[in-house]
Amino acid sequence: MSRPFNFSAGPAVMPEEVLRTAAAEMLDWHGSGMGVMEMSHRGKEFISIYEAAERDLRELLAVPENFKILFMQGGGLAENAIVPLNLSRGGAMDFVLTGSWSHKSLQEAGKYGQAREAATAQDTGFHSIPAPSSWRLSDDASYVHICTNETIHGVEFQALPDLQALGCQAPLVVDFSSHVCSRPVDWLRVGLAFGGAQKNLGPAGLTLVVVRQDLLGHALTACPSAFDYTLVAEHQSMYNTPPTYGIYMAGLTFAWLKAQGGVAAMEARNEAKAKLLYDFIDGSQLYTNPVDAAVRSRMNVPFFLRDEALNEAFLAGAKAAGLLQLKGHKSVGGMRASIYNAMPLEGVQALVDYMRAFEQRA
Ligand SMILES: *Cc1c(COP(=O)(O)O)cnc(C)c1O
Repeated sequence: MSRPFNFSAGPAVMPEEVLRTAAAEMLDWHGSGMGVMEMSHRGKEFISIYEAAERDLRELLAVPENFKILFMQGGGLAENAIVPLNLSRGGAMDFVLTGSWSHKSLQEAGKYGQAREAATAQDTGFHSIPAPSSWRLSDDASYVHICTNETIHGVEFQALPDLQALGCQAPLVVDFSSHVCSRPVDWLRVGLAFGGAQKNLGPAGLTLVVVRQDLLGHALTACPSAFDYTLVAEHQSMYNTPPTYGIYMAGLTFAWLKAQGGVAAMEARNEAKAKLLYDFIDGSQLYTNPVDAAVRSRMNVPFFLRDEALNEAFLAGAKAAGLLQLKGHKSVGGMRASIYNAMPLEGVQALVDYMRAFEQRA
């Protein structure tokens, strides 16, 4: 029997093949007599899982040699503190506000240095992205922070800003939690990227950090050792016990992504999925999406019913049709369909079919 389609924003759907492999290996990983959760992180079995995961991710995202890949804990929100603890040197940082997540990052960083608002899309209800040429970047900023996919507002950078072309020498810090591995990354424009795993990579509890080596070595003395990127990098993410099961699940996901044709193939699929859903919404009388068409997210599609009194009937009918977790974030209301890598085109087609039938009945 096939499973329902799960549109959760996170923790989110995983590829079914990955879950089946994990289930089959739960009690005995590759004849070792141990499940992955029961292994020493320093044993040869887990080291082989870790090394394959790192190698596959480096290949999938074409991460250059001068970047370290770190597998950490704490999620995206902990990185809002860990990044300034490591990179700010106690000075100024610039933030571009495009929605809830970048706003949270700005607020948290203010505990560790001077966090400035370089631009904000608040006047558009966070339905757009301010043009990089309009950003007020400061000469003394230790970094510039953006959230490249705003999971709640459904806004996505379609290209990374070229800070050097704007006359800014500061490194770009990117929160790519909710679209990592859904499209390629232009590493020439990035100093550091971080993301929680639970949207597009694996279970909650694992955080991915990709950091350019020359940015290491400047952590504040108050930085917890387990969150000091330099120490974590020197110990291949094993300064303390890493989230071993999360790394294993992410590793299975990376292998799955490679078998699908890699990130470029995923991007083409994600474009097709998003186009199917947005085209339907734009052509309907009942549903709307408020985001500027040029920056609509391919991963998180918020939408609203023109008659909000129908919301509960819509969700109940969706659930009965095998379409789960479509309720929008409480801060914006309405609906949200998260269509991450693991959501097949058939799932989006099933959603559109249901939305059309519901509109005809309404
Ligand atoms: C989910 C999310 C976070 C927060 O992640 P946690 O693991 O809950 O800390 C941060 N940034 C973005 C863009 C997210 O989607």
